[in-house]
Amino acid sequence: MTSATSFSTLALPPAVLANLTQLGYLEMTPIQAAALPVALAGHDLLAQAKTGSGKTAAFALAMLDKLNPRHFGVQCLVLCPTRELAEQVAVETRRLARAEENIKVLTVVGGVPVRNQLASLEHGAHVIVGTPGRVMDLLEREALDLSGLKTLVLDEADRMLDMGFVDDIKAVASACPKTRQTLLFSATYPEGIARLSQQFMRNPQTVKVESRH
Ligand code: ADP
Ligand code: MG
Repeated sequence: MTSATSFSTLALPPAVLANLTQLGYLEMTPIQAAALPVALAGHDLLAQAKTGSGKTAAFALAMLDKLNPRHFGVQCLVLCPTRELAEQVAVETRRLARAEENIKVLTVVGGVPVRNQLASLEHGAHVIVGTPGRVMDLLEREALDLSGLKTLVLDEADRMLDMGFVDDIKAVASACPKTRQTLLFSATYPEGIARLSQQFMRNPQTVKVESRH
């Protein structure tokens, strides 16, 4: 029997659904059930849900669905507030991308020598997960080409604003094609998020999952 929150209600390829079953993802979490139909339909999305609610898969499945594995260029960029969160998102994205063997996910974060990242970028990647400062640095060095970007994700956007990344986020967003899809995830919805979304998103749909206490 298929429940309303089964991943199989989504227009995802059979190999992706089989991979989710293998990962033990049987039912969508509430934020996934709310966000995925909107994101998979190509809309910009403002999504609010608490930590631990499965936000990574909510954006990763949507961005991977649009990605063309045969085109070896950066098609998805995920900005995260910290190096640790970027690494976690990269690990989860790789697990979700397993149905497509040849998707390369690269992290570009601060606190490690830029030299290694420059070398890795030369070899190319489909998905970049990074911190705003380092992504901006690599753009300024012209080591990162975002001209073929399809999806921009701002993960934990409220924390990135708290950490003072607003100018970097603006600069990175300006370097992305206007036709991209933007997905913004946040645990809270402060005024700064509303301003950011007005500047960089196109008719975003809002989904919000209240936390139950
Ligand atoms: P958030 O970003 O909202 O804090 P994560 O994306 O890190 O949450 O997910 C939290 C945990 O839940 C992870 O260990 C992830 O593997 C797991 N998870 C996500 N979606 C599902 C699902 N549909 N079924 C089971 N586990 C899931
Ligand atoms: Mg998260």
